[in-house]
Amino acid sequence: YDVTIVGGGIVGLATARELLLRHPGVKYAVVEKENEVSLHQSGHNSGVIHAGIYYTPGSLKAKLCVEGLELMYKYCDQQNIPYKKVGKLIVAVEEEEIPRLDNIYKRALQNGCTVTMLDKHEIKDVEPHCKGLKAIHSPKTGIVDFAVVARSYGKQFAEGGGTIRTNFEVSNFKKSSKLDSGVLIQGKDPNQQIHSKYVIVCGGLYADRLAAKSGCEILPKIVPFRGDYLVLKESKRDLVRGNIYPVPDPRFPFLGVHYTPRMDGSVWLGPNAVLAFKREGYKFFDFNFKDLSEALLFSGLQKLVFRNFSAGVNELYRVANMNAQVKLLQRFIPELKKEDVVKGPSGVRAQALDDKGNLVDDFVFDSGKGELSTNMLHVRNAPSPAATSSLAIAKMIADEVETKYQF
Ligand SMILES: Cc1cc2nc3c(=O)[nH]c(=O)nc-3n(C[C@H](O)[C@H](O)[C@H](O)COP(=O)(O)OP(=O)(O)OC[C@H]3O[C@@H](n4cnc5c(N)ncnc54)[C@H](O)[C@@H]3O)c2cc1C
Repeated sequence: YDVTIVGGGIVGLATARELLLRHPGVKYAVVEKENEVSLHQSGHNSGVIHAGIYYTPGSLKAKLCVEGLELMYKYCDQQNIPYKKVGKLIVAVEEEEIPRLDNIYKRALQNGCTVTMLDKHEIKDVEPHCKGLKAIHSPKTGIVDFAVVARSYGKQFAEGGGTIRTNFEVSNFKKSSKLDSGVLIQGKDPNQQIHSKYVIVCGGLYADRLAAKSGCEILPKIVPFRGDYLVLKESKRDLVRGNIYPVPDPRFPFLGVHYTPRMDGSVWLGPNAVLAFKREGYKFFDFNFKDLSEALLFSGLQKLVFRNFSAGVNELYRVANMNAQVKLLQRFIPELKKEDVVKGPSGVRAQALDDKGNLVDDFVFDSGKGELSTNMLHVRNAPSPAATSSLAIAKMIADEVETKYQF
C-alpha cells in the first residue's frame, strides 16, 4: 500500500476517507485489530455533538470542534444519518459556580458558539424539571450515534477502493525490505504483514505503545479512565429533553456527570471517571496485569493521584454506591430517585498524561526519531470531543500528511 492507517476508530476512518477523497489514485489500507471497526472509544461514548463551548480560545480543540460540528451536521444530512439537535444546558446550581459559568460563557462567545445565558426561570422553559441558578444554553449541541458515523466513513472509504483489514493486530513496525523507503507493519499473527510507503497510526487507547514501537518516546503516556453510565427507566424519560451538564471542575479534564438523551430514545446519566484496570476494560473487574502495573508505576499518574486524592476517592465511592451518584444528579433534577435508574454501559477514555501528571489537552502528532520517522505519523492524543471533530481532525491530519510526504 501507499498509505496504511492503523486503527479503525472514528479518527482513523475519517482520516482514511479524507485522504482517499483528496488523492483517489493512491492505494490505501486501514488495519484494525477487532473483527469490526469502531468497537472502542468511538462506539462507547456519550454521543454528544459538542458545540466547542469550554475549550481555550485559539486552541486546536476549540477550532476543530466548532468546525467539526458544522461538518458533522452536513455529513449526516448528506448520508442520511439520523441525529437530533436536542440542545444543551450547562447549569450552575450553587452561587460559587456562577463565576466559572460566566467565564465559560465568555469562552464560548470567543470560540464563536451560539449560546445564551438563562436565569433560573428561563431554565424551566428549556428543561421543565431542571433546577438551577443560571445556565448556558447551547441550541446547536446535538446527539448522534458516532459508531454509525464511523462505519459510514469506513463504507465510503471501501466503496472508493480502500481496503479495510479487520482482525489484524499490529505488533511491530520495521523498515521495509521490499520498498525503497517504507515500513513493514507486522501483525501479532506472523502470517499477517503489510509493506506500506507511509503509515498513520490512530491507535486510541494503545497510541503510546504503538508510537514507542516505531521510535517515539513513550511520553505522553495513555492512562485509561473508565466512565460508567446509569440509564433512566423508560417511565422517567420525560424528566429530560436535552443534554444537562454541570459546570465542570477546572481541575479535571472531563466534563462531569451529565444527562444525555440517546438516539434510541433512552437517557444516559454519567459518565464518572475512575482508573480502569485494563485498557479497553469495560467492567469493574476487567483486569490486565501489564496495563495496571504500567499505570500504577507511571510517575505521571502517581503525581496526578497525589494532587487529586480526595476527588479520586469520592469518585470511587460513587462507583460503588449508586445512591451517591444519584445524589450528584439530583442537584439538577431533584425529582430523580434511585429507583428511577439502572446500571448502564461503560466507556474507557484514552487520557494522555505527561510525566509531571499534567493531562495533555490538545491533539499531539509525533513521528519520533530513527529510520521510520520519515514514513510514520502517530496521532497520540485524540480526546473528547474528537468524535465531534473527526472530520475537521481528518482534514488537519491530511494537511500534515501532504506537507510531510509531499503528496
Ligand atoms: C466515555 C466517553 C464519552 C465520550 N463522549 C464523547 C462525546 O459525547 N462527544 C465526543 O465528541 N467525543 C466523546 N468522547 C471521545 C471520543 O469517543 C473519542 O475522542 C474518539 O472516539 C477517539 O477516536 P479514535 O479513533 O482516536 O479512538 P478509538 O475509537 O479508540 O479507535 C482506536 C482503534 O485502534 C484500534 N487499535 C488499537 N491498537 C491496535 C493495534 N495494535 N492494531 C490494530 N488496531 C489497533 C482499536 O481497536 C480501535 O478500534 C467520549 C469518549 C469516552 C470514552
